[in-house]
Amino acid sequence: MNLPRISPVARLSLGLTSLVVSLLLILDVVGLVPDHLKMVREVRNRTSEALAIQTAALLQTGDTTALGRAFEEIRARNPDILSLAIRRDDGQVYVAVGEHVRHWIAQEEGRSTIDHIQVPVLANRQPWGNVEISFRPALPSTFIGWLRYPVVVLYLVLIVVGYSVLYLYMRRALQYLDPTTVVPERIRHAFDTLTDGIAIVDREGRIMLANKAFNDLHPDAAAKSLTGMKINEQKWLCECLDVEVGGFPWDRAISANQTQNGVICNLRQPAGDPLNVILHASPVLDPKGLVRGCLVSFDNVTQVHRVNEALRGTLAELEVSRERISLQNKELQQLANRDPLTGCLNRRAFFSALEELFISTSDEGKSLCCIMTDIDHFKRFNDRYGHTIGDEVIRAIVRILQGGLRIDDLLCRYGGEEFCIILPDTNVSQAMEIASRLRADVENHAGTSVRTTGGLEITSSFGVAWLAPEMRDPAELIDRADKALYKSKESGRNRVTLWQS
Ligand code: GH3
Ligand code: MG
Ligand code: MG
Repeated sequence: MNLPRISPVARLSLGLTSLVVSLLLILDVVGLVPDHLKMVREVRNRTSEALAIQTAALLQTGDTTALGRAFEEIRARNPDILSLAIRRDDGQVYVAVGEHVRHWIAQEEGRSTIDHIQVPVLANRQPWGNVEISFRPALPSTFIGWLRYPVVVLYLVLIVVGYSVLYLYMRRALQYLDPTTVVPERIRHAFDTLTDGIAIVDREGRIMLANKAFNDLHPDAAAKSLTGMKINEQKWLCECLDVEVGGFPWDRAISANQTQNGVICNLRQPAGDPLNVILHASPVLDPKGLVRGCLVSFDNVTQVHRVNEALRGTLAELEVSRERISLQNKELQQLANRDPLTGCLNRRAFFSALEELFISTSDEGKSLCCIMTDIDHFKRFNDRYGHTIGDEVIRAIVRILQGGLRIDDLLCRYGGEEFCIILPDTNVSQAMEIASRLRADVENHAGTSVRTTGGLEITSSFGVAWLAPEMRDPAELIDRADKALYKSKESGRNRVTLWQS
């Protein structure tokens, strides 16, 4: 339940009134305030004493009628007295006025109370009886009675009048201190035109001014006037901030006399997305350079944040499609440059790479060799086992060739089951060594490498040539290697032949 807000002036006046009343109560307790009951008791005692003396005198005359008349007169003159009686020591009522039986309450051992007083009467210096007087109750017994009770009336009047007087006085006095009147209206209007939320707080963190944009940050900020309230008690704001050492940004700005910039906070909203806000807190100094408060500004960057989020999303999507395109490009390059069955360079890519190598090797005077190799009696595999196994054999050969070459060497599927190898930076003896090793590898491992068909005997023939200074075209190199290969075939296959002129 929302209790109605009490203005600071009313609260102050109420506080001061309570203070005065409490002070009076304390004075009352310590006995510095006249005791009403005590005074009543004294008056009644004195009245009763006088009455007893008068009664004793009248008793001397023995005139009961005169005594009754006197009692009636006393009761009529003293409205405080309800009933009067003289009771003899033997308990018999001698004279009674008023409804004494109704009003009189006998006390133990003949004691008196504030409302029922009995005084001994002497006749001929001998105890004769008592004068009994019933007074109106000194303390009220009903609520209305209490309201009329002088002390209560005093306190009630004090509260009502004291509060009213103090309220008027405080209102007048606080006009000089009221922050809302300290800030001129035109300045407030100027602040309201700003798109940034602004709150100016004093050293104690009380809000002196909050502009319209600040009120718009959260429904709780718009629901009531924030002036005079503590900014640290603004739950909607504080719950979105991390309290670091030194407190909230405005606390740190005030205590360290240092601007706190770029504090990011996401203000949760009762409905909808949170507001993304960047907060700055700058100390406000007086002419002597002392910190008098803090100016807290709130830059609402929700829109920018949303655009950034959307941009980030788009960038992520772009990155994904970029990766997809790069993958597709690689696939395209593979398709364009590689032989689909074996993954070896195709002739187009091979010649393009060889062209470059040929030029650089010639320029730098380095050595380069070429190996041509062809599977022996390959047709037989096709004929005996079918084309699928033929393809398997080709792939097995490529695995072996690739396994025996360096990363910079070029391996090209030159024809159906014929391959061309370029060995950069390699002299003839090295090339012959490589070719011999490859030949042995094919002979020893190619057959077992074809898993689907066991017991295949696969061999290849090799021809080796080197780049000679007189060569003008890479085709000449390949041609020589091919010729050497032909020699290998001619001389019985499964062997390596070096080109010879
Ligand atoms: P040689 O020892 O003289 O080289 O005998 P060979 O049988 O290997 O030579 P030949 O040139 O007569 O036969 C090559 C065969 O390779 C002819 C062709 O059908 C077959 N061939 C070419 N490309 C492929 C291919 O991609 N897959 C399969 N399975 N066979 C191929
Ligand atoms: Mg062949
Ligand atoms: Mg062939």
